[in-house]
Amino acid sequence: MPVLAIGFLVTLPVLLPVVLALLWLDRRRLLLAAASSHCRFCGCVLGEDSVELANAKWAVIMAKRQDESLRLIRRVKLRMVRNMDAICPACGAIHIFDRESRIFHPLRKL
Ligand SMILES: [Zn+2]
Repeated sequence: MPVLAIGFLVTLPVLLPVVLALLWLDRRRLLLAAASSHCRFCGCVLGEDSVELANAKWAVIMAKRQDESLRLIRRVKLRMVRNMDAICPACGAIHIFDRESRIFHPLRKL
């Protein structure tokens, strides 16, 4: 086990910038796709606001789930799959981003 910890610490200066660069690249792709995508329900351009709306909504959902899980069972950690990447600022429709095709797909209206 100490070998893994030492290996992690040795590779951390290389891994951390790579992970940060990949996260930045993923967010940039998401924002570029959002800027050129339209809501399938109302035709409004999704844009950066829709991504921020989805991030805020997801933070609220996760905080609520965290409180519920802590109250019910303290030892169980829930595995969550994020199912929203953009929320239309005009009609509130939830869209998910397909990272392979770089297209937003509508899931449902709120
Ligand atoms: Zn819409």
